[in-house]
Amino acid sequence: MARYTGPVCRLCRREGIKLYLKGERCYSEKCAIDRRPTPPGQHGQGRRRNSEYGLQLREKQKARRYYGVLEKQFESYYEEAARRQGVTGENLLRLLESRLDNVVYRLGFAASRKEARQLVRHGHFDVNGHRVDIPSYLTKVGDVIVIREKSRSVDRIKDLLEAAESKTIAPWLELDVASFSGKVTRLPERGEIDTPVAEQMIIEHYSR
Ligand code: SF4
Repeated sequence: MARYTGPVCRLCRREGIKLYLKGERCYSEKCAIDRRPTPPGQHGQGRRRNSEYGLQLREKQKARRYYGVLEKQFESYYEEAARRQGVTGENLLRLLESRLDNVVYRLGFAASRKEARQLVRHGHFDVNGHRVDIPSYLTKVGDVIVIREKSRSVDRIKDLLEAAESKTIAPWLELDVASFSGKVTRLPERGEIDTPVAEQMIIEHYSR
């Protein structure tokens, strides 16, 4: 599947916020947003005038880039969110949060969503006892995600697990380092999703 392969820090600079796309580097002084917070490109330092449409578009792009989702798939998440009962914007964020790559990242099994995607694709995880290598797989309440036995001796995974022990895990997830597993205990509340987007603007973008 086609995927953005250019410099990811450029995406943060475009959105003007940290999207945490590079793992540990995002928390270091090497972060490009901390060093050069202007938008990328020749005219990056110029004055930006944003129409209402432009602002809505930026919110959508921000969310898409934050979760690493392509345009078409993002649109299908919006359609599914609109079909479900409740507030469409919150449904959209819950769907994005339920993606297996996001859950793996939130559990601390990966340092970034990008790394989580790669680890999932390489088949390092079982969901409810079955190998799942699809990053967009939507987890459900009660799902148990386990690092597969043969993957537990991989140096990178050992390091990530060690770091996960001291991380704060999202309150809707449960981490059990001893059994190399994590569980989705419930759906997240909006206040528990720290994604820096105004989801209502995304909905307005699609409702035009
Ligand atoms: Fe974004 Fe991380 Fe690059 Fe900073 S280091 S600009 S947060 S991807």
